[in-house]
Amino acid sequence: MEKFNFKKNLGQNFIFDKNLLRAIARAGDVEKSDTVLEIGAGAGTLTEVLAEMSDRVISFEIDENLRGTLEELNTKHKNIEFHFQDFMKVNIDSLNLVSARVIANIPYYITTPIVFKLIDHIEKFKSILILVQKEVAERFASNCGGKEYGITSVILQSIFDVSIPRVVKKECFTPSPKVDSALVKMIPHNKYKISNFEDFKSFVHLCFSMRRKTLINNLKNNFDKESVIKALEKYGYLQTVRPEEISVENFINIFNDLKNQNK
Ligand code: SAM
Repeated sequence: MEKFNFKKNLGQNFIFDKNLLRAIARAGDVEKSDTVLEIGAGAGTLTEVLAEMSDRVISFEIDENLRGTLEELNTKHKNIEFHFQDFMKVNIDSLNLVSARVIANIPYYITTPIVFKLIDHIEKFKSILILVQKEVAERFASNCGGKEYGITSVILQSIFDVSIPRVVKKECFTPSPKVDSALVKMIPHNKYKISNFEDFKSFVHLCFSMRRKTLINNLKNNFDKESVIKALEKYGYLQTVRPEEISVENFINIFNDLKNQNK
């Protein structure tokens, strides 16, 4: 690793502190019988801790320059399956995951695409713990009314309990990035019945299309205005309500009602 040229464009900020790596694995609730999926092995430091704590680790790394270091680690830990591949091109179905955990210090330049790829296969995961930029973590976990509350908060919280178990200071990484990071933990829940999740995601995008506008204004070209007013009244909102004032549960209620009326 001594001469390794860290690639900023691949989001290469590595963690070498064993105590921190163990704390990350613990925050991910990893157990011996688990299969863990890691995205972005880097020098394999987190991979090694995960391999010590679970039966099976499937780890993806895009950078071929790390192959030597990772294959050496593999000789010590046979329960790791390294794939030198762009995770965004992986067919998750081909991994045959059942009740797996995702635990990863992910490359930040593709945080949202990774998260949305994972949620397309939510039934395969019992938990997802990822290290992301702190402000992104706050956006994921933000509640209704919070200044970070938006599209991703609503979509993620409609299917996961989202929490931030720990902030990780920028000095903990090599090289040190410009901003602090945080762990985001997402546990699938079945609190809400969403009639069609793909349509719900588009609906939430539409609701927030112009953040400063009222919800009615954002929806008026796609839904009958009277139906929107009726749905808002049903859940106790004024016609002037803005998207960031609507709770996750009520986004789902309003969506389901409008969908039913459109049938
Ligand atoms: N897990 C290591 C750690 O905690 O020290 C490294 C984390 S580093 C933030 C992210 C890693 O993801 C880098 O090694 C980078 O090369 C890799 N990476 C970037 N894009 C990727 C992609 N599309 N698929 C798989 N790995 C990727």
